[in-house]
Amino acid sequence: MIELNSEQKMILETVRQIVKDKVRPRAAEIDERAEFPWDTVKIFAENGILAPLLPEKYGGIGTGYLTFSMILEEIAKACASSALILIAQADGFLPILYAGNDAQKDRYLPGLAGGKLAGFAATEPDAGSDILSMKSSAVRKGDFYILNGQKCFITNGSIADILTVYAFTDPEKGPTGISAFLVEKGFKGLCYGKDENKMGMRGSINSQLFFEDMEVPAENLIGREGKGIASMMPALDTSRLFSASQAVGLAQGAIDEAVSYAGERIQFGRAISHLQAIQFMIADMEAGTEAARLMAYRAAGYLDAKEWRPARKACAMAKFIASDNAMKVTTDAVQIMGGYGYMKDYPVERMMRDAKLIQIYTGTNQIMRLVTAREIFGNNR
Ligand SMILES: Cc1cc2nc3c(=O)[nH]c(=O)nc-3n(C[C@H](O)[C@H](O)[C@H](O)COP(=O)(O)OP(=O)(O)OC[C@H]3O[C@@H](n4cnc5c(N)ncnc54)[C@H](O)[C@@H]3O)c2cc1C
Repeated sequence: MIELNSEQKMILETVRQIVKDKVRPRAAEIDERAEFPWDTVKIFAENGILAPLLPEKYGGIGTGYLTFSMILEEIAKACASSALILIAQADGFLPILYAGNDAQKDRYLPGLAGGKLAGFAATEPDAGSDILSMKSSAVRKGDFYILNGQKCFITNGSIADILTVYAFTDPEKGPTGISAFLVEKGFKGLCYGKDENKMGMRGSINSQLFFEDMEVPAENLIGREGKGIASMMPALDTSRLFSASQAVGLAQGAIDEAVSYAGERIQFGRAISHLQAIQFMIADMEAGTEAARLMAYRAAGYLDAKEWRPARKACAMAKFIASDNAMKVTTDAVQIMGGYGYMKDYPVERMMRDAKLIQIYTGTNQIMRLVTAREIFGNNR
């Protein structure tokens, strides 16, 4: 059993209330209009949950990873896009928290709890799973680095106030040639391409970014030159946990919808919940989601204990188990609800489209299996 303290209980109660009053009523609308919910950002900020992982001295509430996972789960039950706001925010600032210096933290972190947005920019058109094949480059010139290249699919890309951007400072060195930079909206040479039109998670923004001789002050290098991977890898590990928790919440939301519908839908003279075929599907959905939840909590436990080595495998496994489960559960929820499940009058078709993305981003589920296998076999392959 996981015992929550009174503070954790209070945070989660606040989140449940916000979800009920503000997030759930907006979920279908922001999906339909592909609209970024600025009103939800404001509500999260006002209630201290826009960046809850941030320590109090930077304006956050200093939650651990387990509490944050539970917050994501609660929000994703109603709206996975709204949970993604918190995930993109954390992905953007955690590299600064992990590897930035005090001046960078003091300057950039406090605004993020209050309403400013962050983003994490690594992926490029020709560098997705094979992130080391990125082409963006940064060359030091006096007090600046000059960045050239492009990024794609970046969550919050065109609306972020700050972005953690990865680029090669020495392409010859491979992984030890990548550096991380803090890029502000408005930096000269930061140009925006299109925002993507997506299948699901339509309440979030995903953008192309172009760096055209973009000038980044040298003091905005995060960590040391060539040490970008040192902030990228832990940020990817944590992001995989966050995706897992988002997937768990999404799956639970779909189960709740399907159970409620099955109890009310009458066919052949009684509720379809009496049919064993439906009961078995619901039982599988519930068991799969509970297993994924426990895996996510275990991964969060490793992170809270700062046990990074076991955390890497636990986060990767939680991510692929939870998102594969969410895909199956949401598809089955549509099936249980029959033709109505396929209609936009009910939320499960949106949940099914949203679930698909979680199998892809923060490393595809094929790559998650590779990470897991690497941790198992080490160099003994
Ligand atoms: C909506 C959305 C939001 C995103 N947000 C961000 C963001 O904020 N920041 C960011 O940096 N990136 C972001 N991404 C990028 C995301 O992380 C990548 O899309 C993902 O890592 C996969 O890369 P790819 O799309 O280039 O696919 P590819 O790498 O081209 O993969 C294509 C297929 O090949 C498989 N594959 C590739 N290599 C292997 C292998 N070695 N073994 C087995 N199978 C393999 C993959 O699993 C996949 O099925 C986002 C993507 C999307 C769609």
